[in-house]
Amino acid sequence: MAGIAGPLVFSVLLIVAVIGNPENSKGRKSFKGYQVLSVRAGNEMQLEYLNLLQAGPEIDFFQVPSLAQKTDILVPPNQLREVKKSLRKMKLDFEIINEDMEITIERERRDMATRATGDIWTTYLMWEDFELWLQEKSTNFPGMMELKSIGKSNEGRDIWQVKVAADINAPKKPAMYIECLAHAREWITGSACLGTIDILTANYGKSGTLGQQATLMLDKFDWYFIPMMNPDGYNFSKQNRLWRKNRRVNVVSSCPGVDLNRNFAADWGGAGSSSNWCSDTYRGGSANSEPEAQAVINAVAETGDVRSYLSIHSYSQLLLVPYAYDNVKAPDYNELKNVGDIAMLALRQVNGVNFVVGHGPEILYAASGGAFDYFKLNGVKYAYVYELRPASGSGTDGFILPASQIDPSIRETFASFYSFADQIPA
Ligand SMILES: [Zn+2]
Repeated sequence: MAGIAGPLVFSVLLIVAVIGNPENSKGRKSFKGYQVLSVRAGNEMQLEYLNLLQAGPEIDFFQVPSLAQKTDILVPPNQLREVKKSLRKMKLDFEIINEDMEITIERERRDMATRATGDIWTTYLMWEDFELWLQEKSTNFPGMMELKSIGKSNEGRDIWQVKVAADINAPKKPAMYIECLAHAREWITGSACLGTIDILTANYGKSGTLGQQATLMLDKFDWYFIPMMNPDGYNFSKQNRLWRKNRRVNVVSSCPGVDLNRNFAADWGGAGSSSNWCSDTYRGGSANSEPEAQAVINAVAETGDVRSYLSIHSYSQLLLVPYAYDNVKAPDYNELKNVGDIAMLALRQVNGVNFVVGHGPEILYAASGGAFDYFKLNGVKYAYVYELRPASGSGTDGFILPASQIDPSIRETFASFYSFADQIPA
């Protein structure tokens, strides 16, 4: 915290004063009057200030503060004046990109009410429908798909693993893992997993671009998906649309939840995670403490010969190359960066959407305890984090990505999965 003057620390402490938790008439958390400010940190001192601001539980950071990209922060109405004043004092440029978060959430709710339920290409499936879709799909493709519970969440929900293979009964091939919905509010990531399962099963052995791609992908590898790593949090995001963590009950605090992507044993407790139970980046009581994390660790170990582990998150339009936990690049960083660059080129060719590829701490941000770092440290060579649409600072949507973007987002993400499969040796 060196470099931050005393009075500024004091003003941060004022900002993080505890506020209430207003809920609207249907038991959902209301974000009425909450604004999203997009902040650009231009130097180390400003970055430090943002990190200090993030340490308080009441300002919700949508990205880890970084010098390389804008950081979008959600500020409750009763703190807007103080926060804006302190940002100006620190000469931090910001713009208001969402005047009232509740209006955005209401818009999504109305939009989804008009859409056919169960269609993963045009709407978001909530927890029950999500499970149902997985069960129906595996029933429809018994020769290609295997649905397996790899453990139970804190609240007793199944953590599902989906295996998709050219022939589910054939000897095992090298494995590719794709993990989605570790963070509850990142709904588009669940769509990315379901959409990819849908494309692979529907197109294997067929002609056309998707047919050729699905065939290569499944002839070369077995594909494993953790489509909903955090089912409790995801289910809860119906009530609190911006919920991120799991639903672990904390014994010494009224704040539930552990950030699953800070819980893994990859420099656990290090940079970019919090020991504060109420923080959105609370790392948990110990490394790998959460049943959701343990389930995935055990499943990957049991599968063996895993070539790639892709953690799908949103939002920022980034591909992170390990490691994120410290200012250390993986020994084969350059190779991974090149492969990632080519995959993101394939992604861009679909809809013209640009993803920045880079090393966590140096170019983007530091975050310890991430699943991809954990698996990279444990022998999975091609480990990456995606941050899907939209770019930070780009408008009102953020996590509330309009359902009209589900289809194009699935397609561009799939193109990059194909590129990874094409490039990675079997
Ligand atoms: Zn995330």
